[in-house]
Amino acid sequence: MQLRKFSLKLLFAISLFYILMVEATAQLPVIIKLDDLKYSDDAKMSKYGVSHSWVSIMLYLKQKDIKASLGVVAMGLENSTPRHRKWVKELIRDGHEIWHHGYSHAKNGKAGEYHGHSFFDQKESFGKALTLIESTYDTIVVSVGTPFNQNDNTFLKVLESYPQIKVCIFIKGQCPNRGMNLKRFGSKLEYKVGEIDAALFSKYLEKNLHRPYLVLQGHPSHWNNKDKNEFKKILDMLIKNNARFITAEEYYLRRK
Ligand SMILES: [Zn+2]
Repeated sequence: MQLRKFSLKLLFAISLFYILMVEATAQLPVIIKLDDLKYSDDAKMSKYGVSHSWVSIMLYLKQKDIKASLGVVAMGLENSTPRHRKWVKELIRDGHEIWHHGYSHAKNGKAGEYHGHSFFDQKESFGKALTLIESTYDTIVVSVGTPFNQNDNTFLKVLESYPQIKVCIFIKGQCPNRGMNLKRFGSKLEYKVGEIDAALFSKYLEKNLHRPYLVLQGHPSHWNNKDKNEFKKILDMLIKNNARFITAEEYYLRRK
């Protein structure tokens, strides 16, 4: 009888240890959402037709073996160079995801591309960008995030016409096509657009470690050297906190 009690206690202790171990090693899915990847033939750009800042950040992510979700603005891709297309295709091969971030990214007064415009206009812009992105980079796009994170209900109707779109990043309203919404949870990679402070981020992270996932939004074109260094510190901080870097599409596929 004594032995049986002891065995039960031992079994309980082992189970508890196992549960605690699983808790301790539970990973936090982190989606690095980088906005405004855009081809330009401006002389200030790198040889790949994107800003130097984009190139250095993508190189750093490769060194760290971190995958990100890259929001492409399609306008200009019509004239992109083979070198640009090769560079982005390599990013896709490395595991990064390309998502739809609009055709022009233009703002007309207060109205972004997918807010306050007719169904016809929104569908034209959305479809044109989708075709252009997919044909330029030989990829399939399943995720969308709108310029300025602005959308209206008409945009949700537009998305219904594109059943391949399954992941709505920071979109207001239910993602159509039985898709998934990725929420912001007050995302604070940049404390304001284009500016990063690792110390501020650590406070944000502490409060949000219990979330099912984090989507961290950044704009590499806006980052100066200080911001880039802060970004690197944040990646290290996330790694220490058991982050599992994952693209929006992968997160959707695993949760489905
Ligand atoms: Zn944008």
